[in-house]
Amino acid sequence: MLELDCEDLLYKLFNEEEVRLFDAEPVEFQCACSRPRIERTLRALGEEELEGILQEQGTIKVGCEFCGKQYLFDRIDVETMLSQESATNQSETRH
Ligand SMILES: [Zn+2]
Repeated sequence: MLELDCEDLLYKLFNEEEVRLFDAEPVEFQCACSRPRIERTLRALGEEELEGILQEQGTIKVGCEFCGKQYLFDRIDVETMLSQESATNQSETRH
């Protein structure tokens, strides 16, 4: 189960629970998204992009498109995240 991402999980659930989805309470499922996972996505955007969003909106809001869970990152979160990254990737130049 740990290897599955949200999409795989949802696909499996729809195959197995398709009927129940329509005549019962929504089936609860454990989405594989997590904050570290979202952080990885944000890092991929790059520091400048993140900085731009922070200046525009103050916080970065990311919603998982599968389970709808919202992750919020403020400036401090982003700085922490980026400094963690630079610690493991020291060849990267920083401004
Ligand atoms: Zn999710």
